Amino acid sequence: MLNIQNYINGTFQDPIKDNWIDNYNPSNGEVYGQIPNSHIEDVEQAYQGAKSAFKLWSKTTLEERSRILIKISELLEENLQRFAEAESKDNGKPVSLAKSIDIPRAASNFRFFGNAITQFASESHESVGQSAINYTLRQPIGVVGCISPWNLPLYLFTWKIAPALAAGNCVVAKPSEVTPMTAFLLGEICNEAGLPKGVLNIVHGLGTSTGQAIVEHPDIKAISFTGGTATGAHIAKVAAPMFKKLSLELGGKNPNIIFADCDYDDMLNTTVRSSFANQGQICLCGSRIFVEKSIYDKFKTDFVNKIKALNVGHPSNADTNIGALVSKPHLEKVKAYINIAQGENGTILCGGNEVTVHGYENGYYLEPTVIEVPTDECRVNQEEIFGPVVTIMPFESEEDVLKMANKVKYGLSATLWTNNLNRTMRMSNQLQAGIVWVNTWMMRDLRTPFGGVKASGVGREGGFEALRFFTEPKNVCIKY
Ligand code: NDP
Repeated sequence: MLNIQNYINGTFQDPIKDNWIDNYNPSNGEVYGQIPNSHIEDVEQAYQGAKSAFKLWSKTTLEERSRILIKISELLEENLQRFAEAESKDNGKPVSLAKSIDIPRAASNFRFFGNAITQFASESHESVGQSAINYTLRQPIGVVGCISPWNLPLYLFTWKIAPALAAGNCVVAKPSEVTPMTAFLLGEICNEAGLPKGVLNIVHGLGTSTGQAIVEHPDIKAISFTGGTATGAHIAKVAAPMFKKLSLELGGKNPNIIFADCDYDDMLNTTVRSSFANQGQICLCGSRIFVEKSIYDKFKTDFVNKIKALNVGHPSNADTNIGALVSKPHLEKVKAYINIAQGENGTILCGGNEVTVHGYENGYYLEPTVIEVPTDECRVNQEEIFGPVVTIMPFESEEDVLKMANKVKYGLSATLWTNNLNRTMRMSNQLQAGIVWVNTWMMRDLRTPFGGVKASGVGREGGFEALRFFTEPKNVCIKY
């Protein structure tokens, strides 16, 4: 059994009430450890640790903060294999994916914000003719809360923590209860890197108790949250009367729009990834595929053939393309959507069934599933499934596909495949999304603003946007 503890004030400790939650390995369905089921008392202790550390940390020079964050990044890189294996065991994703994407990106998050803080600046405004100068002070907020989901556990956890710490805040953070392991291991690395005690506190437990206690804490002044839209709406309701600063990165139902004039092979290979990477459990996956009518039949055949060739298997196997889904309840939710699709006259072109992996019969494996839908208005085309399921349908014209692409409640990302420059400009201006990728997918530059519109969230992370979120601007006006 691999039990984990809360990381509070630089030390590892059991939850005060000694309550624990089972931690499952999705690849075999077995409990392999326990995690703290923390309550309000643990969150209070974490807050007190953070509050005591804030005085010193907020006054630590930028060079010193930067040095420590970059050291954390280096230590993550040195421990790549160990972290990748832990992430895979906790989440079900292929080790190869955790090793090439999740852990390197977590290291990049610390390195990027360690560097970015040394370049962060604020404005000044000279009030000409009034003999006055205004400048903007950007001060850390104090103690902030960071809450992250299970799909890209350490990647998204550090995407919040790194800018919060770089900006001089102290943090009370909670990873998803479903995937707490790498957040636990991060505590060791922070100590080794010399992060002063109390600057980062990691409290494990359920969203509805531990997470809720962070959001409800009257002195945790800002919440950076990534997760489902319903949870985001609930958090906004709790936090608004306390006038907390909120950054909400929520769900998506992203269109992947394919025109006949695209670079076909590149599009096809990338569309396999944008549909099923991480078992389709990425908020940016292009789960609604719209294909121009003239190439629809060819695309359908080629795409389905490629998907049928994907290997569903144990996450540790080097030749596994699709690992296990994160949990039994999530597997059931995704399967329910496949049934809904059939009830809505959707045609399952491939997949749709659970997979039994020899030796791991109780793991949560599902075939990558492609559903041809008769209309864009059906539930499987409107609701976030967040698993290895995509819909496909043809379109006639640019106007039609634009309408369908925008006709969902979400607006996180969109992908466009075309070599027509005018169309690229017209479409990217009108697509309702926080990110539009043209002839690529998930190409990320950490300096760019990241986030969604409509039910996909409020606020932007990334680059200086994140440092602005984690600081409070103060205008100082001096008359001379
Ligand atoms: P949830 O909303 O269920 O959970 C996200 C986090 O919030 C978890 O740590 C969860 O804890 C916690 N939480 C749950 N309830 C509360 C509460 N009342 N107060 C405070 N915290 C709470 O999302 P999932 O973990 O299921 O993640 C999947 C969702 O995340 C999808 O909708 C996906 O689209 C979205 N997502 C969005 C991204 C973006 O950048 N826009 C990126 C990645 C994912 P616990 O796990 O213990 O319940």
